Amino acid sequence: MTEENYNYDVRCHTCFKKFIVQLFESHEKNLFLVDKKDWYCDSCKRAYFKQQTEKLTKSHAEIGFTALEGTPKRISWAEKIRAELIHKVDFLKDSLRFSEEKEKETSDLAFSLFLLEWQKQTDAKWWIDNRKTTVRDISDRIKEITETIQ
Ligand SMILES: [Zn+2]
Repeated sequence: MTEENYNYDVRCHTCFKKFIVQLFESHEKNLFLVDKKDWYCDSCKRAYFKQQTEKLTKSHAEIGFTALEGTPKRISWAEKIRAELIHKVDFLKDSLRFSEEKEKETSDLAFSLFLLEWQKQTDAKWWIDNRKTTVRDISDRIKEITETIQ
């Protein structure tokens, strides 16, 4: 079997340009995939990711986060991570209940200080290195900050 056996002609879902993909399932399954799947050529894929990244960068700018530094690929990944981590912070904040107004004020301040720490991290690599940060990790750091302001 030559390598050409794995090559299939598909059409980009966005720009309708034809391009070749390699598929390694059975011929029948490959034909099914060629027909059913939405295919995107490399340049449309790149444009799509760039657009998604720009959207995230913009929404992060609105909440005080500056643009990230790094290679386009790293920035694209880091923006996704940053969105997920900020989401975890929001989730944690929403899950907290307070019996006293004073407690809530202290907590809000701790969250603001916490976000300030993250807002200083403008290197895409930092976000990638910290992608495994859990809600628990965030909660622990918030507690530490809360202790310093009480
Ligand atoms: Zn295309």
